[in-house]
Amino acid sequence: MTVLLYDRDAYKTDFIASVFSCEPIKYSGKDAFDIVLDQTAFFPEQGGQDCDSGKLFICGEGKDAACSDKDDTEDVNSINVLHVSIKSDVVHHICDIPVAACTKVCGKICWEQRFDRMQQHSGEHLVSGTVHRFFGADNVGFHLSAREVTLDFNTTFEENDIAFIEDTVNRAIYENFETHIFFPSADELKTLDYRSKKELTGQVRIVEYPGYDMCACCAPHVKRTGEIGSIRIVAAEHFKGGTRMWIECGKRSLISARAQLNDTRAISRITSAKISEIVPAVEKISDALKDARFKLVKFERDSILALADEVRAEKNPIIWIDACDQDNLRLGVNTLVSGTDGYCSAFCGNDDDGYRFIIASSSKDCRALINSMKSAFEIRGGGSPDMVQGTIKAKRSEIAVFYTEAGIE
Ligand SMILES: [Zn+2]
Repeated sequence: MTVLLYDRDAYKTDFIASVFSCEPIKYSGKDAFDIVLDQTAFFPEQGGQDCDSGKLFICGEGKDAACSDKDDTEDVNSINVLHVSIKSDVVHHICDIPVAACTKVCGKICWEQRFDRMQQHSGEHLVSGTVHRFFGADNVGFHLSAREVTLDFNTTFEENDIAFIEDTVNRAIYENFETHIFFPSADELKTLDYRSKKELTGQVRIVEYPGYDMCACCAPHVKRTGEIGSIRIVAAEHFKGGTRMWIECGKRSLISARAQLNDTRAISRITSAKISEIVPAVEKISDALKDARFKLVKFERDSILALADEVRAEKNPIIWIDACDQDNLRLGVNTLVSGTDGYCSAFCGNDDDGYRFIIASSSKDCRALINSMKSAFEIRGGGSPDMVQGTIKAKRSEIAVFYTEAGIE
């Protein structure tokens, strides 16, 4: 059983430990070593939260004394902790270098990463406690990684509810009260109204935010709620009959708000609108685009019907057009099919980029034609005997020669 230093002191970044065992293993397909220590400050991956990262150093090489202010990046003798897990109360540190049993090591966790996760995890408790208290719903899923923090609830919310939860949790942050972490006796535990996703056995660790939440939890938390900084609920979507919520606390919230503000400023520059007026400005552009698109489709429709008229009398008519959407291209071919029993083809594009095509016929086998074309050109596509479509990498003159040689004129 490993002594879990983070259990009682989330702020402990450096520690001395003795190597209990070191076994060679494979990690992500590479040689690695599973090191078990007598005690650790590394939080292992569990309960939906990723593990801490950091380094180990061999003691007795002048490194342990300077452990707390060591510059890790310059220390070539450091041992990288690649992953940390816990099984049956034993913490396994997956490392890139072996260390003999009984060796004294100094461990150093990455504080910036740890504190970020403490901010996110404490924020998660306040959100889940608030949802439990005001909406009678439970947190049924949680994930905390470097990329995102997601909370799953077995209920749905209105937009006003999300703002209410956000306001309530931020108020708890402004109040800057102390986090109460304790280990109740079995009898005391029976009297507590606490949240827990599963039935617990053995010593239970309770994390309480008085007035907001009480929950069984093994993760490191901030000492006072003010350290969370602030919280934003950045998204909430329907998920498995309930809701998946994305939250950002502390520095994460600041970084993403800054990025969003930069995007907003960029949109303001592009649209030449004040920041407070970018939404109507973008709507105006969107409406203008829809209008232009509508006019373009109508223009293409008129163009392809005019081109179809020009070749309508031919036995195997072909339309060539620079640009046209797929529906209009099909309209052009269908217009021709009613007037001939030959191959009716429409090619859209240019010699440099290639062409999209549709070939149809009321009596000929278009699939046989495209198969013979595939032996001469690079073609993607297929279809039925009466209609095929796809793309072709060829010049117009080469396709014309192929048609002539195949007797399609
Ligand atoms: Zn927790």
